[in-house]
Amino acid sequence: MIYNFGAGPSVLPKEVLKKVQEELLDFEKSGMSVMEISHRSKSFQEVIDEAQNNLRDLMSIPQNYKILFLQGGASTQFSMIPMNLALGKKAYYAISGAFGKKAYDEAVKLSQTLDFEAISLGSTQSEYYNHLLKIDTSKVDEKMAAYLHITTNNTIEGTTIFPENLPEVNSVPLIADMSSNILAVDYDVSKFGLIYAGAQKNLGIAGLTIVIIREDLLNQKESLSSMMDYRILAQNGSMYNTPPTFAIYLAGLVFKWVKEQGGVKKLEAINHQKARMLYDLIDQSDFYQSPVLNKVERSICNVVFTSPSKELDALFVQKAEEKGFKSIKGHRSVGGMRASIYNAFPIEGVLELVKFMKKFEEENK
Ligand code: PLP
Repeated sequence: MIYNFGAGPSVLPKEVLKKVQEELLDFEKSGMSVMEISHRSKSFQEVIDEAQNNLRDLMSIPQNYKILFLQGGASTQFSMIPMNLALGKKAYYAISGAFGKKAYDEAVKLSQTLDFEAISLGSTQSEYYNHLLKIDTSKVDEKMAAYLHITTNNTIEGTTIFPENLPEVNSVPLIADMSSNILAVDYDVSKFGLIYAGAQKNLGIAGLTIVIIREDLLNQKESLSSMMDYRILAQNGSMYNTPPTFAIYLAGLVFKWVKEQGGVKKLEAINHQKARMLYDLIDQSDFYQSPVLNKVERSICNVVFTSPSKELDALFVQKAEEKGFKSIKGHRSVGGMRASIYNAFPIEGVLELVKFMKKFEEENK
């Protein structure tokens, strides 16, 4: 049995893959694959509309938010966000992980040619991002602030800002990179000005990026290039150009699957259960360690852990691979191990990993 612990691209629900396989050569009796039909056709319009409606339902997205299906990965959003929202203002960043740092670095780069200021509220980089930054919102100049940017789940470091710990910044729009825990943790969308996520973890496959944006934040300026302009992309129903049709179709199937599983709250509870099994084992053992300092910040999507030495980490990864546990090696910048256990990751896989970890500990203590 193969279990895919990859952080992204990651495991997809088997039911979704089977449906894709069934429909691959003949989508809705068209005699063509969904990959071949026009994005302007009635049947594709139905695909994107249904995907959008299901996502709105799943996340209870209020009607005054637009949902955009874009390309370029979450990384393109690192630039689009300041371009669209920050001009003439101050853009604030709370940095608790490598991707938050990348988002900030892009903003700094752009601020050298565009008229805005990119401001870091601090970073935990010097402590290897082993805890979240305590965000001091009193440092945010509310009058001048365009937004405060956070990362809800730090994929590499395995930390999360859970809904109860979101920073409160009154009128300042909160912007979240939710790439690795969208639909896995239930957030109140109305607390955010903009949410974005690459699809390749909890939403489907690489090539699609979801942006959820409050309408009043849609850029009013005419000067941005069209493909970078949320307003134009929204006005065109995410079809200013040819959208990533197959990835949208697949995300639509994932949304239906999430609904069939009982919705986000239900999956969140299961994700907690899966993560708890691993953290309990780590806490009870003096062999394994979690590098995350504060238990309340531990991610339920990416469980990062180490053994007593780099050599044993390497042996663990090798033996795990042999057993069929794929991509459990920690990110190259962190080392150790990382079990990514997103929505589609089955609980049986976690049970198997727990067994394997116990055995490995016994054999290598
Ligand atoms: N943000 C987070 C939290 C991520 O985990 C990732 C990818 O792993 C990214 C951004 C970058 O996403 P993309 O590869 O879609 O640009």
